[in-house]
Amino acid sequence: MVTRILTEKDAAQAAKIIKNGGLVAMPTETVYGLGADAFNKKAVADIFKAKGRPMDNPLIVHIAKIEDLKLLVSDIPEKAIALASAFWPGPLTMVMPKADGVPDEVSAGLDTVAVRYPSHPLAETLILLSGTLIAAPSANLSGSPSPTEAKHVLNDLNGRIDAVLDGGSCEVGLESTVISLVGDRPRLLRPGGVTVEEIEGVIGKIDIDPAVLDRLKQGEKAASPGMKYKHYAPKASVVILKGSDEQYIRYVNDRKAGGVCAICYDEDAERLNVPFFSLGAKNDASAQAKNLFSVLRSVDDSGMKIAYAHCPDINGVGLAVYNRLIRAAGFEVTHLA
Ligand code: AMP
Ligand code: MG
Repeated sequence: MVTRILTEKDAAQAAKIIKNGGLVAMPTETVYGLGADAFNKKAVADIFKAKGRPMDNPLIVHIAKIEDLKLLVSDIPEKAIALASAFWPGPLTMVMPKADGVPDEVSAGLDTVAVRYPSHPLAETLILLSGTLIAAPSANLSGSPSPTEAKHVLNDLNGRIDAVLDGGSCEVGLESTVISLVGDRPRLLRPGGVTVEEIEGVIGKIDIDPAVLDRLKQGEKAASPGMKYKHYAPKASVVILKGSDEQYIRYVNDRKAGGVCAICYDEDAERLNVPFFSLGAKNDASAQAKNLFSVLRSVDDSGMKIAYAHCPDINGVGLAVYNRLIRAAGFEVTHLA
């Protein structure tokens, strides 16, 4: 298969590929998604094959009209309406009771479905022109960092998908916030661009799933199946260092072996004696979110073997940065004394 590179002017062609059961990687404000017709079982199964994604990890369905929720959700919770009014279109995914028409392939056999209304204009156009709804996980090979540029998609999936719709680099840079609205209390399953603080401002206190901040304990069941897999990982070993700026810089500069680099903040950069990749300014979590995945890919392009990452602040969008970084690090955190 030859993967075609399409742009905005080719949106109708991309929509036709979706309609005909093909796979198109589309830009969204979070990361690039690998899209297929959510109601075409074969096309949905092809997404799993192209990515090498475990079949028990469900997909998010993307809509471009709020009224299409009723095609997917059997019983729309009141809190979903409040959250949709506040944050859609945008980087928020809601898990709700699944309507009968949604193929089991999409929900990986669960009786719930995850839905998002993305704000990227090209994603919106593609969904509307396709005349269906689009199931899309991130457009990377399973396990590798999510793609925030069309070239990242091609690095992973060239020859495995029909087309990539190039819409430039993604604004948020990390996958959507995922919240489940099916239990007694809303529960954050994955942090993202819409923060806990913002959600609580609309629907009150929510629970944070333990897997957001920690490794799942042996035998524990993942509320969000995606959270049990190693994810976002470059080939280099990533180690998170927790400590003051001084401690971080001293520790990294003491590592004399070759192949060592730093994933740091702008403020650390000039004092480091090893090659570094900056995530942005220390107090700018949005910049860190936007840059994280391309930094992880750059670490690999540089051939470095170990990357020491300076632990981010976990407030606001920082929680999402930390959540991705600890998975990239296989939960390897060193506390600097
Ligand atoms: P990706 O699009 O690759 O970021 O993956 C989608 C994420 O949403 C994964 O972490 C899934 O486990 C999660 N997800 C999708 N559908 C559901 C669902 N019905 N219940 C819980 N989590 C879900
Ligand atoms: Mg993914």
